[in-house]
Amino acid sequence: MKAIHCIFCKISAGTIPAAKLFEDDLVTAFLDIAPLNPGHCLVIPKAHFHSITEVPEATAGRMTAVAAKLGAALMRVVEADGFNLILANGAAAGQVVPHVHLHVIPRLPADGIQLPARAIPYKDAAARDALAEAVRNRLAASAKNGVA
Ligand code: 5GP
Ligand code: ZN
Repeated sequence: MKAIHCIFCKISAGTIPAAKLFEDDLVTAFLDIAPLNPGHCLVIPKAHFHSITEVPEATAGRMTAVAAKLGAALMRVVEADGFNLILANGAAAGQVVPHVHLHVIPRLPADGIQLPARAIPYKDAAARDALAEAVRNRLAASAKNGVA
């Protein structure tokens, strides 16, 4: 299903241009218009989903597999030493385009990219364990009820 006003649906359909790198029945990959490094690209599902939580498992798996292959190709093509796979899910996570997309960002030594990161320690081991238990319970309930 496509969303009429979605820029990534239009790229996937070919109605607006992009430097496409790969496509198959489930996903499309193309160069990001504002690359953090040369080769920075995006892997998207062909169908329109806002959130990764809505994406069928087969499609999510394909997105990851294609991103890994693109990362490997980019390590050869732009002689990257590594790459980041980043998916911003939701505005609070920095998602701007409301069609789920997995960034593949080739990394070069001392390229200056700094991923925002800071550690916030748990209050104590009990607080950590309680949170882990809550997540395990939530996963179990989701698996039972078939919801995210
Ligand atoms: P987000 O912040 O949502 O994770 O990232 C959206 C990404 O989409 C940005 O890196 C941005 O440069 C890229 N982008 C936005 N509009 C276009 C477009 O029209 N074409 C291409 N190729 N990339 C786009
Ligand atoms: Zn879309």
